[in-house]
Amino acid sequence: MSIKSRIRTVQHYPKQGIMFRDITTLLKDPVGFRVTINELVNRYTAAKIDRVIGIEARGFIIGAALAFQLGVGFVPIRKKGKLPAETVGQDYELEYGTDCIEMHVDAITKGDRVLLVDDLIATGGTAIAACKLIEGMGGEILECCFVIDLPDLGGSKSLGRHGQKVFSLCEFEGS
Ligand code: AMP
Repeated sequence: MSIKSRIRTVQHYPKQGIMFRDITTLLKDPVGFRVTINELVNRYTAAKIDRVIGIEARGFIIGAALAFQLGVGFVPIRKKGKLPAETVGQDYELEYGTDCIEMHVDAITKGDRVLLVDDLIATGGTAIAACKLIEGMGGEILECCFVIDLPDLGGSKSLGRHGQKVFSLCEFEGS
């Protein structure tokens, strides 16, 4: 069973020239969804993780299912202004301008061993910002995991240079 074969590519979304890697076709397939989560559960089941942290929005789907199966808590990292209680934020660069992600200040405690999860790593900007947030709160990041890596965009290498271990279930060439 191939995870990669169940991911749909939508050309020119959300704009001209982008190949959008759409995991909704993987998630709607009961075998595809189960195999995806099980592969991650097998990888991390012995890892003594305190919390899984997922990045909005598709990181919530994968991260919450994984946390549930591992029997640990789930923490969301959201776009600015979405979380109701006191937050800490981290700005990051986009192609044009900047964006900001946030986490609740009490979401993790110093020394927590966490796993960062998102659906896809491209340039790595989002994941590195998430790592800075977690590190700033004293969290220990065991690994950053993704369903998809786009290695040509260099994000996994950048995350490695930032000192993180990176794991992905499949790769696509190009952007
Ligand atoms: P980046 O910060 O460049 O690594 O972008 C990662 C974030 O953007 C992830 O949350 C992805 O969901 C989304 N993303 C970036 N490029 C794509 C793509 N080609 N297909 C699907 N999602 C993407």
